[in-house]
Amino acid sequence: MKRITIMNVPFLNTDQHSFVALLNKRIQQKEKTFVVTANPEVVMKAHEDSHFMQHLRHATYIVADGIGIVKAAKMLNQPLPERVTGYDTMINLLKIADKNQYRIFLLGAQEETLQKTVANIQNQYPHINIVGSQNGYFNLDSNDITNSIVQLQPDITFVALGCPRQENWIASNLSRFNHGLFMGVGGSFDVIAG
Ligand code: UDP
Repeated sequence: MKRITIMNVPFLNTDQHSFVALLNKRIQQKEKTFVVTANPEVVMKAHEDSHFMQHLRHATYIVADGIGIVKAAKMLNQPLPERVTGYDTMINLLKIADKNQYRIFLLGAQEETLQKTVANIQNQYPHINIVGSQNGYFNLDSNDITNSIVQLQPDITFVALGCPRQENWIASNLSRFNHGLFMGVGGSFDVIAG
């Protein structure tokens, strides 16, 4: 698929619907996938922090999270069809997960927020199998959390640690997993928790 590069960050030229269909196909084929939804702040951070930029290079797909990226692409005469936000992608993945009874792991946010997120997802998407959850206030360098997630073999792991923590955590741990979709979702658990 075509990519459009903005300040050295290669964005996938896709819309929300096609993107989620692509992700679903990869889940079904048990292909490992690392998704970054990048807004202008993420691009600026990558520009300023080479360590973070290195981690972004592990991403399977980077999509345009925000109208700022879509406008920048238009100005560069390489238009992107629309923004593909982390929150919308997460909600669309939850719908697909419900249909397909996917195994989900939720990593991040404060414990109370996390518990509410688990309850609300389970209520709204009863066929999703939430195989585990862990709040985002643990030692991010520890192998213990990674080991337990590896054992659970989730189809999708949503990582809500804020940027750049979530992308750094995924990039550092990705090689430990055989399959699964990993995506940083920022403050999405806070929204779902209500
Ligand atoms: N968060 C976390 N661990 C941390 C820092 C933040 O789990 O060490 C969680 C925080 O509780 C919130 C989410 O990450 O649920 C998003 O945080 P923030 O708003 O700072 O990130 P942003 O949306 O700006 O990427």
